[in-house]
Amino acid sequence: MEPAEGNIKSLNFIEAIIEEDLKNGKHKDKIHFRFPPEPNGFLHIGHAKSICLNFGLAEKYNGLCNLRFDDTNPTKEETKYVESIQEDIQWLGFKWHDKPYYASDYFDQLYEWAVQMINEGKAYVDEQTQETISQQRGVPTRPGTESPYRNRPVEENLELFERMKNGEIKDGSMILRAKVDMSSPNMHMRDPIMYRVLHAHHHRTKDKWNIYPMYDYAHGQSDYIEGITHSLCTLEFEIHRPLYDWFLDQVADGPRPRQIEFARLNLSYTVMSKRKLLELVNKNLVSGWDDPRMPTISGLRRRGYTPESIRDFADRIGIAKRDNVIDVSLLEFSVREHLNRIAPRVFGVLDPIKVILTNYPEDKVEVLEIENNPEDPESGKRKIPFSREVYIEREDFMENPPKKFFRLGPGSEVRLKGAYIIKCEDFKKDEQGNIVEIYCTYDEATKSGGHDQRKVKGTLHWVSVDHAIDAEIRLYDRLFLDEDPAGHKDVDFKEFLNPDSLKVLQNCKLEPSLKDAVAGDKFQFQRLGYFCVDLDSKPEHLVFNRTVPLRDSWTKNN
Ligand code: ATP
Ligand code: MG
Repeated sequence: MEPAEGNIKSLNFIEAIIEEDLKNGKHKDKIHFRFPPEPNGFLHIGHAKSICLNFGLAEKYNGLCNLRFDDTNPTKEETKYVESIQEDIQWLGFKWHDKPYYASDYFDQLYEWAVQMINEGKAYVDEQTQETISQQRGVPTRPGTESPYRNRPVEENLELFERMKNGEIKDGSMILRAKVDMSSPNMHMRDPIMYRVLHAHHHRTKDKWNIYPMYDYAHGQSDYIEGITHSLCTLEFEIHRPLYDWFLDQVADGPRPRQIEFARLNLSYTVMSKRKLLELVNKNLVSGWDDPRMPTISGLRRRGYTPESIRDFADRIGIAKRDNVIDVSLLEFSVREHLNRIAPRVFGVLDPIKVILTNYPEDKVEVLEIENNPEDPESGKRKIPFSREVYIEREDFMENPPKKFFRLGPGSEVRLKGAYIIKCEDFKKDEQGNIVEIYCTYDEATKSGGHDQRKVKGTLHWVSVDHAIDAEIRLYDRLFLDEDPAGHKDVDFKEFLNPDSLKVLQNCKLEPSLKDAVAGDKFQFQRLGYFCVDLDSKPEHLVFNRTVPLRDSWTKNN
């Protein structure tokens, strides 16, 4: 189902801006983007949207895209996050320009500019309490109150700022503020904070700094230092744009970056804030950042998503100027669509019951050839052993089947895929009344590919008992039962966790060709869905994750 409209897709509004700029010769050099994650957690599918946008535009317009760690918040940031972020971007298939950059590399320059702003009367040290400062900021409809320190002499500001830097000032007792406009209707312009005192160890600059710049100050200046032309961010920063530009006004005397806002990705049945995801990890409500139920890139990877499917998803949702919510089934659709094209078909039985073919010779083993992937003519065939005893899915047999049950029941016929038509003659129950064995006869004349291709309604997957290999299979469902778990004012998002989001099945039976499958390998288990080998898998204990069922069961049942 390749979208034919792909070729005639109209430009999104950011592409339209870029093409206009290029037409007018606005940029002398290559256009330049950046992806600026804060290394305080693993990346999620929302970040993937931003990555596909920034790196994708750089590819499309022969530009560049930097990876810049926005590491201005040392108490929450860690090297392990820096590493996972790089891994995820590369896995998605993107390359950053040059080497990874860090906002912390610019701390000296940012400090110098702050000193310059003090000298020009554009910044001052405030030593009021946080509470007083926020009271003075007032409300948008009325001007705020100027700080009594606002007009401190330059010399005094310089000396205090230096002492803040040198570690002589207690955390939280002084800040450096930009002197902008306390009566601006835009609250962000009411003398925003540029620096705070923080005696914290930084994962890169170690103990060099006792002050750290605020995001609003550091971000735009970092864009400027790196020669970014288009600084793309999510809509909540629109209101920060005048401040972004104001900070640039103080230092820029060359080409300046332009901030453009787009709608963030919101997904139904999903929480996306890193703080909430961290909480799930810390409270052991999931097995880690890469738990296959997490909306993180590493979780999706482990679940069996492909980079292509995530890029395709980003493409489908597009770029808009207004916030909206995307149905998570669209993400599932994208991965199903890709796996349908690339995943070899195999047989696996999740809940096995034994079928004995009473008229099949006891020691005979036939090796049948079965197509690997009808969607991929290059994929060839594989060999599967067939013998007198096979496993089928327990739910494919019913003792008293309803009318339209086209699977196995007393007296009925089905085809074992790639093999023969079999007929159920009898079955055995244990003392509890559970069916333990089914007795069938097979019709030799109906071998797949043979001359007698009479049709029956049902076709079942199967695995030869003697040749089957055991596996653990993990079935996942949505992590949350509510469409908008984080959107309830009085109920914590964790209340909506789905208690059945993980089901672990042991002793599933797989065809022997899966014996050497290794972590990350992907398959379609016929009739059941797409599965991939989990990181926990070992040759002596295979573990598979179900990525998605073949069909979207949620949309249908709801
Ligand atoms: P979170 O809200 O999950 O903590 P964040 O915005 O704080 O995310 P950053 O590391 O600052 O995380 O984000 C890096 C980049 O990814 C930013 O440019 C941000 O705009 C973008 N981004 C984050 N979340 C989304 C999202 N849901 N959709 C699109 N872009 C996003
Ligand atoms: Mg952020």
